Amino acid sequence: MSYNQDKIDYREFLIWKRLRNISFTIFVGSGKGGVGKSLIATTMGLILTGNSFRVGLLDLDMHGPSSLMILDIKQLPKEEKNGLVPPSINNLKVMSIGFFAKDSPLPLSGMAKREIIKELLAITDFGTLDYLIIDLPPGTGDESLAAINYIKNNRGVILVSTPSRLAQQVVKRAAIFFIDMNVKIIGLIENMVLDNDFGGTYNLARELNVPFLGYIPYDKRVAYISEINPKELTKTTFAEALQNALKKANIIH
Ligand code: ADP
Repeated sequence: MSYNQDKIDYREFLIWKRLRNISFTIFVGSGKGGVGKSLIATTMGLILTGNSFRVGLLDLDMHGPSSLMILDIKQLPKEEKNGLVPPSINNLKVMSIGFFAKDSPLPLSGMAKREIIKELLAITDFGTLDYLIIDLPPGTGDESLAAINYIKNNRGVILVSTPSRLAQQVVKRAAIFFIDMNVKIIGLIENMVLDNDFGGTYNLARELNVPFLGYIPYDKRVAYISEINPKELTKTTFAEALQNALKKANIIH
């Protein structure tokens, strides 16, 4: 008689055990790369720790894991008895696929990507958290599917768009994917608005019957990830607008 190895995968039990210590998981996604998703996920983490929440950030963006660069994290996760303990900055615990990928892109099959996500969720010891923010890769590929699959008990997804019509089209596709997967859309954000020249994200939110959380202006202070000062990040116009979006989503008050 053969047995199905998946059924006895200890990592799934570990993931379940670890997730029990996390009150809310929020995904941050987009249809398309380059819309500011990672900057929003990272800054959101810092805003929440600034509001005295215990917060972790899990960067699953295999195509461009940028949270480590945004936060200027040089420390590696520490191997301890209960797993890998992520380094923190301003109390934000950060685990990223970038710790393992370094500068090289990851040419992986869908199956391998799912395995990596399972492994990361199983080995990372975030401890007890109020919020775990997950920076998803753009689009609706295997990584997004795997993350949703392992974290069924999530609070939902924040989707990031820009004033560009193309960005809205791909965000619309992503939104339909999340709705199909039974993931609640917490709301849509339109990022990188120049000179109050708003795009159609508000109308898209109405069309999809999901909340619109607001506009975030293009802010020169955050335009280049390698030049961002993580200590100043929450004091920017960008962060102020994001804070308003989080209030609208009832994540902070
Ligand atoms: P994604 O995760 O969607 O690929 P990133 O968060 O990596 O996008 O952002 C892409 C680039 O845009 C980065 O250089 C980032 O600093 C910049 N950026 C994001 N949002 C803004 C904004 N509101 N104003 C100016 N630059 C921004």
